[in-house]
Amino acid sequence: MDDCLFCGIIEGKIKGDIVYRNDNVVAFKDVSPKAPVHILIVPRKHIATLLDATVEDHKLIGEVFGVANRLAEEHGIAKSGFRVAVNCGAGAGQSVFHLHFHLLGGRAFSWPPG
Ligand code: 5GP
Ligand code: ZN
Repeated sequence: MDDCLFCGIIEGKIKGDIVYRNDNVVAFKDVSPKAPVHILIVPRKHIATLLDATVEDHKLIGEVFGVANRLAEEHGIAKSGFRVAVNCGAGAGQSVFHLHFHLLGGRAFSWPPG
């Protein structure tokens, strides 16, 4: 989609530190990391928010969690613990309106999140 930052990174038009890609999903380092490991796992399909995901997208979203597990292992945070988070809507802190999953690890996390 034009004018979408993450579509631009996925398509290689905008620079991104990509750590994983397959036919359905791309993962790259967050430009402003909130933890020692902070990776964004992004479906290639432009879906604006989690609320816009349909039943047809459920398999894709399941695949994202498989990628999260794999990246957690690869980045050494599987055993220490990690968090996968989605901000849905501006009120929850979403700032880029292309569905993405934050993979965070490498430090202790409090609950509930702020
Ligand atoms: P949100 O606030 O929508 O849940 O998460 C958006 C994330 O994208 C933020 O953590 C922010 O740091 C990250 N971000 C914003 N612009 C860029 C960029 O140009 N490149 C990368 N890699 N991450 C970005
Ligand atoms: Zn997009």
